[in-house]
Amino acid sequence: MLLKEKEIEALYFLRQFPRSKVAVSFSGGKDSLVALHLAYRAGIRRAVFSDTTIESQKVIEFVKEVGTLFGIRIDIVRPRKSFWELIPFLGIPSVHNRWCCPTIKFQQLNEYAKKYGIKYYITGLRKDESLFRKEYEKIGTNPMLPYIIQLNPIIDWSEKEVWEYIKKYELPVPPGYKNGLLRNGCVICPYKSPKELEKVKKLEPEIWKKFEDFLNLYAHVFGIPNKEEFVRSGWRSWRPPTRRKVVGKIKIINNKNKIELTNGLEKRDFKLLKIINKEKLNDLKKIKILIEKELNCIGCGACLSLCPADALHINEMGVIDVDIKKCTHCYECLNSSKLRGGCVGRNYGLEIFVVEY
Ligand code: SF4
Ligand code: SF4
Repeated sequence: MLLKEKEIEALYFLRQFPRSKVAVSFSGGKDSLVALHLAYRAGIRRAVFSDTTIESQKVIEFVKEVGTLFGIRIDIVRPRKSFWELIPFLGIPSVHNRWCCPTIKFQQLNEYAKKYGIKYYITGLRKDESLFRKEYEKIGTNPMLPYIIQLNPIIDWSEKEVWEYIKKYELPVPPGYKNGLLRNGCVICPYKSPKELEKVKKLEPEIWKKFEDFLNLYAHVFGIPNKEEFVRSGWRSWRPPTRRKVVGKIKIINNKNKIELTNGLEKRDFKLLKIINKEKLNDLKKIKILIEKELNCIGCGACLSLCPADALHINEMGVIDVDIKKCTHCYECLNSSKLRGGCVGRNYGLEIFVVEY
């Protein structure tokens, strides 16, 4: 198919969805830029950029520049807790410890969608970007955007066609590529190759210096051998040591929402237990999940998006809480198939408190 035909097909596809419920999730990369331009031609005027707090300042400037060029506002959203606030609790974001996407990328996109009634995010995903993406379709879902449908208008485009389109419409070339990078995105990413990391380090020395300070600290605290290699690129495959710590056994007091943990240290009302219907108070598996969520909560806000009734919030103490008047007891917030296990603190904390039953 010729590029012109692909463009027409993409425009026809995008025009099928109600504009008021669609936004472009713009990443500042080349594919995303093409998706944004197509969306603009299809009459869509809302776009959002998720600043993970480890973005290149050049990319953020580029996002603003594109907004001005297109004459649209690209909202920039940031996470409740930055990468730098979370790393002391969750450790190095390696391929075996991927806490970063749900907390610093998708959490704010979910909140943005909720605020503006967005049901569809347009992306620049393409099949030939990676083997994993071969399975993607034009309309898809993402377990980290539980109530959003993803529209991928250039899913079948090649990289060559993307560059051809950018040239044809005289779009600005995103930063990064000019400096020999293969993609934009988080400066710190365990999926970057060692070669690409070396380039990024030169381009973003301040962010890297800050990160290397953490790497040195972790290498010291965890007694990691070959510290130099760990700091250079070995951190990408870091496996955190066993971190589960049993803090007690569940004992229900007077069939009420009061749980005694048999270590004798905890005897309190767990707020989240109100989520369980009274008749299910003997469902110890659900009780365990909710108690552990509460014990391990770091206030990242990632799980708020799991609740279709908007009943979850982060309270004044900075931890998860429920507005029981809104709760429909659907138990989606216990669903571990989304958000990489349903709760970031409970799955990725450097020390995870668990209860037995
Ligand atoms: S309960 Fe878990 S996912 Fe939800 S805010 Fe707390 S740590 Fe984050
Ligand atoms: S049970 Fe359903 S409605 Fe209640 S807090 Fe959990 S996700 Fe929300």
